[in-house]
Amino acid sequence: MKILVAEDDVVTRHLLELSLKRWSYEVVSTADGPQAWEILRQTDGPRLAILDWMMPGTDGLEICRKVRQFPDERYVYALLLTSKTQKADVLEGFEAGADDYLLKPLDLAELRARLRTGHRIVELHSQLIEARESLRQQATHDALTGLYNRGAILDILGRELIRCRRQAQSLTLLLADLDFFKHINDRFGHLTGDIVLRETARRIRSVVRPYDSVGRYGGEEFIIVAPSCESGCSLGLAERIRNAVGSEAILTPDGPVVVTLSVGAAAVSGVDIPTPDSLIRAADISLYQAKQEGRNTSRMTGGRGEEA
Ligand code: GH3
Ligand code: MG
Ligand code: MG
Ligand code: MG
Repeated sequence: MKILVAEDDVVTRHLLELSLKRWSYEVVSTADGPQAWEILRQTDGPRLAILDWMMPGTDGLEICRKVRQFPDERYVYALLLTSKTQKADVLEGFEAGADDYLLKPLDLAELRARLRTGHRIVELHSQLIEARESLRQQATHDALTGLYNRGAILDILGRELIRCRRQAQSLTLLLADLDFFKHINDRFGHLTGDIVLRETARRIRSVVRPYDSVGRYGGEEFIIVAPSCESGCSLGLAERIRNAVGSEAILTPDGPVVVTLSVGAAAVSGVDIPTPDSLIRAADISLYQAKQEGRNTSRMTGGRGEEA
């Protein structure tokens, strides 16, 4: 684990460097506060820091305060070195955000033991963040395709519609449904069906803009939320997606499989924005029309869904 030593006293600094290297830490060291801060603020900077309280420029206390204000969730375990033994001083150190302190002259065995605690806390912290991120991913994404799941994409649609209204902007909603997908499952089995779904998702994502959102709405049905795409561009986007999926066979262990997509579009713009439900209904009407008119095609009806 990487560790920062910020200590202006040469003898103490060298002693620390030698000992820490012997204990297998990767040591970064500096004699002054501002440089210590520069090192710690790097995103891949050390997560363990031994900071001398009294240093030129920025003292250890000030660095503790700054480290606690990182905008992200990085945790730096800060151990202050000090000769201050007064209770008020110690409290001031903790107040500034130090995790621990050690008195000078240094007791190396004690330092080693205290660093083990720090190491443990830093590891626990990053495991916790990882676990939470993975739960968040599971809660919002579809396990098969990696796209947003139904709940997440509907949340996104709701938020984007509010933004649309506030900024008088436009938005396109697409519903895309694989044609005769049941035949593919029946002919090749579910596992190959799953491969086709995954590749369909990948192809859809590859032709939309980074700020468009793609979700799995149901079994073989996908939903695309495209902000700032007004009605004039809706069918263009729908066709791009349809071609991306249908123009080349999907390679599977059962051989190449050709699938086509039907796409229904609905667009909104200005301040008179429909609810998510009515917009989805409008896209669904368009999708139904695309299916009725032979599939492997895109349609956009003028309706806003309310009259359906
Ligand atoms: P249409 O052109 O009218 O849309 O016909 P379709 O066969 O695609 O439509 P239908 O709704 O009849 O069938 C959808 C099929 O999608 C049925 C279901 O077994 C399949 N399906 C849904 N979810 C999954 C999945 O996660 N994996 C696989 N392999 N198949 C799925
Ligand atoms: Mg000093
Ligand atoms: Mg279908
Ligand atoms: Mg369907």
